[in-house]
Amino acid sequence: MPKSINTNYGKLTWEQVRDADKDRVVILNVSATEDHGPHMPLDTDTVLGMAVANGVAAAIPDEVLVMPPIAYGFNEHHKDFPGVIWIQPETLIAFITDVTKSLAHHGFRRILLLNSHGSNHPVLDLAARKTVIETEIICVSASYWNLCSERINAIRQSDIGGIAHACEFEAAMYAHLEPEHVDLSKAATQNLHDDKSQFFNLDLTTGGGKAMLMRWWSAVSPDGTMGDPVVANPETGREFLAAAIEETTALVREIRALPILSRIDHH
Ligand SMILES: [Zn+2]
Repeated sequence: MPKSINTNYGKLTWEQVRDADKDRVVILNVSATEDHGPHMPLDTDTVLGMAVANGVAAAIPDEVLVMPPIAYGFNEHHKDFPGVIWIQPETLIAFITDVTKSLAHHGFRRILLLNSHGSNHPVLDLAARKTVIETEIICVSASYWNLCSERINAIRQSDIGGIAHACEFEAAMYAHLEPEHVDLSKAATQNLHDDKSQFFNLDLTTGGGKAMLMRWWSAVSPDGTMGDPVVANPETGREFLAAAIEETTALVREIRALPILSRIDHH
């Protein structure tokens, strides 16, 4: 076996799992397989989520383990676009908590559910809460753009509404990571943000809306895009990704430092 610290859970032997530091934070990326406009592939959320997870692992290899991703998510509202694979939220919560309960069974006590697909956010929140109730280990959920939103807004070129889906943010990072899989000549701006609305905002990094309506995707976007991929470029993609990795690394360090608390039954 190589001497460098192995951060890839799937490459561990069972003996290495037995002997592993159980306070390493286990990162499980949950993403989606779905339309990302005419300019990006179905696997966008998985590529970006795993780039963040593996970037954290490269930064602090002895403090994390990275699970194989769950590459399917809650996105039935996208199914008018060919290629979408959707999982019912009840199924996804059950699947994720089976994974987290398996990890708890093996002694791990700090898990980060790292979300890279918008509509998974409430699903992962519930899965993390269920994990805590059923195992008493620490299980945190986070959508990676929320961890770095201020830094993203300092880098972005698009207006509000420009960062949502297959947008400036996602297209720039994918173009930085795998330029051969992004064709920005096919990208079109689909900024659907209504400046007059007091309550609705689907822009990922400007705070989100105070109220939420998720319509059928085909009813609001003609080509699957929501945002402004036209201004995306690999250089800002590199900066976006670096910000996401640094802020997620900071979160992992906080999770590592959290005390393990015991419940008290006051009956
Ligand atoms: Zn996406």
